[in-house]
Amino acid sequence: MKILIINCGSSSLKYQLIDSDSENVMAKGLCERIGIDGGVLNHQPAGKDKITTNVDMKDHVVAVKLVLESLTDKDNGVIASLDEIDAIGHRIVHGGEKFSEATIIDDDVIKAIEECNDLAPLHNPANLIGIRSCRELMPDVPMVAVFDTAFHQTMPKKAYLYGIPYEYYDKYKVRRYGFHGTSHSYVSKRTAEILGQDYESMKIIVCHLGNGASISAVKNGKCQDTSMGLTPLEGLIMGTRSGDLDPAILEFLCQKEGISISEVLNILNKKSGVYGLSGLSSDFRDLLKAESEGDEKAKTTLSTYSYRVAKYIGSYIAALNGVDAIVFTAGVGENNGDIRKRICDYFGYLGIKLDAEKNSKRGEEIIISTEDSKVKVLVVPTNEELAIARETAALVK
Ligand code: ADP
Repeated sequence: MKILIINCGSSSLKYQLIDSDSENVMAKGLCERIGIDGGVLNHQPAGKDKITTNVDMKDHVVAVKLVLESLTDKDNGVIASLDEIDAIGHRIVHGGEKFSEATIIDDDVIKAIEECNDLAPLHNPANLIGIRSCRELMPDVPMVAVFDTAFHQTMPKKAYLYGIPYEYYDKYKVRRYGFHGTSHSYVSKRTAEILGQDYESMKIIVCHLGNGASISAVKNGKCQDTSMGLTPLEGLIMGTRSGDLDPAILEFLCQKEGISISEVLNILNKKSGVYGLSGLSSDFRDLLKAESEGDEKAKTTLSTYSYRVAKYIGSYIAALNGVDAIVFTAGVGENNGDIRKRICDYFGYLGIKLDAEKNSKRGEEIIISTEDSKVKVLVVPTNEELAIARETAALVK
C-alpha cells in the first residue's frame, strides 16, 4: 500500500509517501510559512535532489494541493495519479484520555480530537486543519489518526496523577499524558527485536533526546511512566524548554519581572532549556564546541542536562524494579556519543559499561554496551513516519 503521512503544524506541513510493503520512503518534503508571505515547498523524491519552490500558500488546503501536485509531477513525481494513494496517516499531538490507539478518522473522531484542543491549543487545531484539507481534496481515501499520547495511555494512575486536588482531574482531566509516544513505542519494540528478546517480558527505558526530549519506562510492552506531562513542558531539560521546576517560580518571576503568566510560560517553552542556561544555543553541537573552547556556561549546561537525564533513568529503574535495556534515540541521542557517555557514567554502580568504539558511531542501530555490561545500552534511530505508516496500513487493510 502507498501511504501518505501528514504532520501538520500551524504554519508548516511535513509529509512522506511510504510504500508500506517495502517500507521504502518514495518521497518526502516540507511546506513552510503557510498563511504567511514567503512560502517555501521542499520536495525530495527518493534518490533524487531536493527541489525547492518558492510559492505562497494562503492556507493548508493550498499546501496539500501543492504536495499532491509534487507527488504526481511528471518529472519529479513518484506516482502516476492520486488513485495510487491508498490511505493517509495523520500525526495528532493530543488524544487526551479518549484515544489509547490509532483510529480510522470519521466525523465522531474529528469531534473527539476537537474536544482535546484545550489540552494542546497550538497543535491539535493545526492537526485538524491537515485532516480537513486532505478530506476536501481526497474525500474517498481512508484516513487514520495516530496520536502522540496514545502509547502512554497504559500508565497507571499512580504515574499520571499530579498531587493536586482530585477534582481538577475529574473536572478538567488535569493529569500527565506524555508525548513522543509513537517514537517510544517504535524504539522500544525495535530494541526487543534487535536483542532477540520477548518485548512482552522486558523492562526498557527509552531516552528520546532531540530538541524536545522525553524518557519513558516500558514494562512488558506497555508504558509505565514518561517524563512529559499535561503538556510537553514537564520533565527533562530540553533545547528551549525548562522541564521540571518549582511551580512557585511562575508567580515569583511574574512579580519580579512585571510580566504575565503567559509571558513566563513563553519563556519556559521557548527561551529556557539548554538555550536559556547557556545563553548560547539550543543546538548541542554548538554547546559541545563552546565547552571544548573553555566556555564555562556551556560546560555547566551540559552537566546539568546530563544529570537530569540520569536522575530520570535512576527513578525509572526504581519504578520498573530493574532494567534490561536503556536506549537512546532522536537528534542528540542518535548522534552524540559524548552525551550518551556522560549519562551512562552515572550508572557504573549498576554495572553499565559502554564500548567506546561502538559508542562513537552515529545514527545507526547498534548495541553500544560491552559484552559484560549488566544492562544493554543501545542506539535506535527513531522513525515516527514509518511507525505511523505501519499503524495506518494495519487499520485500513
Ligand atoms: P526535534 O524532532 O525535537 O526537532 P531532533 O530529534 O531532530 O529534534 O533533534 C534535533 C537536535 O539534535 C538538534 O537541536 C541538535 O542539538 C541535535 N543534534 C543533531 N546532530 C547532533 C550531533 N552530531 N551532536 C549533538 N547533537 C546533535
